[in-house]
Formats: sequence, structure tokens, C-alpha cells
Amino acid sequence: MKIGILALQGAVREHRSVLRKLGAVTVDVLYPDDLNGLDGLILPGGESTTVGKLLIRYGLLEPIIQAGRSGLPVFGTCTGLILMAKNINGSNQHRLGLMDTCVERNAFGRQLNSFEADMHIPAIGKKPFHAVFIRAPYIEKAENNVKPLLVYDNKILFAEQDNLLAAAFHPELTGDTRIHRYFLEKIEKQKAE
Ligand code: GLN
Repeated sequence: MKIGILALQGAVREHRSVLRKLGAVTVDVLYPDDLNGLDGLILPGGESTTVGKLLIRYGLLEPIIQAGRSGLPVFGTCTGLILMAKNINGSNQHRLGLMDTCVERNAFGRQLNSFEADMHIPAIGKKPFHAVFIRAPYIEKAENNVKPLLVYDNKILFAEQDNLLAAAFHPELTGDTRIHRYFLEKIEKQKAE
């Protein structure tokens, strides 16, 4: 399985190491050609306004939108979740707008900036997942066939829609590979359909 990791900014190395542990081949995505032949794409955390601008500068915004619309599995964490949303409250920043979600930025856990918590995510198994939140966003509203996979305090923190997967937290930072495995299994399932 060949998975691209958007390498403009953020926790690229950490995603790479989890994916390799799971036996996937990884490719750093910097230019549109890097999208060729991928089975999936990861959009790491960072700063969404900066990554949005860089997506334009590197000519990647439209190609990723097209690839996502044509069914390429895309998994966004934190900033990735923001970039994938159709609506970003109070902001007209650049985005991919692939998911029928409305997100609030820097709102979840703002008092502390970052925090960690054990979350129960039935889709990945019984054992709680230790989730790390860093100036995290959350999905405030979701429409159409967006399926919430983790809701906490009325906030959607992990969700999927067709070929898309988005997490408000950083599953690449904990050494627990179950969320990435969920993404790889989702790709397999989609291929088998
Ligand atoms: N607050 C950041 C943003 O708006 C997201 C933080 C993160 O990716 N850890 O892009």
C-alpha cells in the first residue's frame, strides 16, 4: 500500500513512522506529480492558514480536491480536518472543502492549548485511545452521510464520509497504531467494493 503524506508542514515524520510500522510504503507529497499512484493521502497537523497558502503556492490545492472528489482516500488530522471542511467558522482561509462539515478552530481545550485524554472509540476496539489534542479544532456540524466515530461533549472529534476520514487529535504521537490501521483497512474495503 502506497500512502502519500502532505509534507508542506507539520508532523510528517511521525505519520511516516506509524505507516511504516504497519507495512505501508510512504511518499512525501510536495508537488502534484507526487499524487500519482497513491492508495491514500494523509494531511498532517500544523497551522491550517499556512498550509492552505502553501497548497496554493505548490499548485496542490486543485489536484488534491480533484483526487479527493474522485475517491482517493484522504485522512486529515487536526489541521487536516480543518482543511477538509466545507465551512470554517469565521474564516475564509483556503481549504479543500471535501467534507460536509462545519468546523470551529482552536476551540477545543483552548484554556490549556493542549491536553490529552483517553477516549472510547468503538470503531477501533474496546481499549480506550489515548488522544493528544494540540490547539485542536472540532466538527460542530456535519451533514449528509458524515458518520461520527467519536463524539465528546457534543463535539465531533473523529468522523468519516465516504473516502474521507478526519480526526481532531494527533494519532501519530502516541505509538498506538489503531487509527492509522483503521485508515488502511478503510482503503482495503473501498478497493474491494
Ligand atoms: N490550530 C491549528 C490550525 O488552526 C491546528 C493545530 C494542529 O494541527 N495541531 O490549523
